[in-house]
Amino acid sequence: MAAYNKVVSDLHASFATGKTKTKEWRMAQLLALLNFIEKESDGIAEALAKDLSKPFLESIVFECDTVRNEIVEALDKLDEWMGKKKAEKNLLTLLDSAFVMSEPLGVVLIIGAWNYPFQLTLGPLVGAIAAGNCAIVKPSEISISSSQFMEKKLLEYLDPECIKIITGGVPETTSLLTNRFDHIFYTGSTAVGKIIYKAAAEHLTPVTLELGGKSPAIIDNTSDLAIVARRMMWGKLCNSGQTCISPDYVLCTKENLNFLIEECKSAIYEFHNGDSKRTPHFSRIINKHHFQRLKQMLDKTEGTVAYGGTIDEDSLYISPTLLVNVKESDCVMQEEIFGPIMPFLTVSDMDEAIEFVNKRPKPLVIYLFTKDNQLIKQVSRETLSGAMVTNDVFMNMSLTSLPFGGVGDSGIGSSHGIYAFQAFSHMRAHFVKKQNMEFMNQFRYPPYNDKNLKI
Ligand code: NAD
Repeated sequence: MAAYNKVVSDLHASFATGKTKTKEWRMAQLLALLNFIEKESDGIAEALAKDLSKPFLESIVFECDTVRNEIVEALDKLDEWMGKKKAEKNLLTLLDSAFVMSEPLGVVLIIGAWNYPFQLTLGPLVGAIAAGNCAIVKPSEISISSSQFMEKKLLEYLDPECIKIITGGVPETTSLLTNRFDHIFYTGSTAVGKIIYKAAAEHLTPVTLELGGKSPAIIDNTSDLAIVARRMMWGKLCNSGQTCISPDYVLCTKENLNFLIEECKSAIYEFHNGDSKRTPHFSRIINKHHFQRLKQMLDKTEGTVAYGGTIDEDSLYISPTLLVNVKESDCVMQEEIFGPIMPFLTVSDMDEAIEFVNKRPKPLVIYLFTKDNQLIKQVSRETLSGAMVTNDVFMNMSLTSLPFGGVGDSGIGSSHGIYAFQAFSHMRAHFVKKQNMEFMNQFRYPPYNDKNLKI
């Protein structure tokens, strides 16, 4: 505990030197992080293979490239983001100057989750550095190889006076959280998000909470089901369903259900060449605890297994599993699944699907598959979620121009591109007046003359 107090106070001292505020420091650190990603991509993929049996391509695309895109965007836009933003003026202030400047907040804490250990820590770090802050990165102890790799390698590249890595689990994070930070950026479950929010409140520290939840995939009767199945099952099976924006469950019409299930089976067969257990293109469950959690879901569900349902504890394998006849009260509908299990629930029409979604906490994403433009507008108008993605999954993440974040139970604030920069900045208002022309202010001082009021 004392050690963390010193780490945090050292960072406050480093921030006070003003070093991190300069454009030169920010650019140099962003380039150093880019260098880390490029030079260490093999080591990153190796660590992810140990933690999750993550396929090489998924490691490169979802972990390295995502962070690289954030860095490239920040390097490209830094001048614009850091620059003075002129503010509109009124008649009274026409001769004055009004503008907004982004200021770094100070020392920030980034706490990551295990499912994308590099993306979820280094992605926010790009925003923290671009905004000119000192930062502590606390990767998840659960993805232990990735966490150790970061601890060993990252500070070979970055400025160790201004950026620190702290590894460890609940006791370490709890102790760290007693310190005063100027922002906390947390990614993980909604339950722990509440613990982080409470700890932050002690110091009135602002937070970004990137949380989870159940993101529905709504499929209407106009859809091409073969295309929907491929896109949706890709989203479900990436990282073995251990993705915050995985489609969690399906809402489709009774007429579509059987066709959709058949198309999903074909998609899984095609992706894994008919053998999900042997293919190198399918991750494993992170650990025994999460394996048991998913096993219990399969044991307790009242739904019927339409495909899959096989498990192997030794290799932490859970096969892609499609469940039908699932009721709203079923255990698989009570919490985020976070695994390769897809429940299919039927609705009589799209109004019922919207009603179903609106009865539950606001999701991180609503996926809608339809060719009906009116339905797109209706779902957009009548629901609320972190993001709404139509006829695809995940591709919103590839755009640094879109904010990424939840709403309600799925999170607070957002990241990516300028949104991450703003999360780690204070937008300071500036108003500058000259000391001349005092006669123009005469009307505002007492004794007041009511005749000056125009009613
Ligand atoms: P996790 O167990 O790795 O926990 C996340 C972080 O919180 C870790 O660094 C951990 O050390 C810390 N932590 C855990 N318990 C704590 C406690 N009691 N006090 C203080 N710190 C604590 O990850 P997880 O929570 O299992 O992550 C999965 C969840 O994260 C899912 O719900 C998923 O949807 C969500 N998630 C959200 C996003 C997003 O961007 N919105 C991204 C990835 C994951």
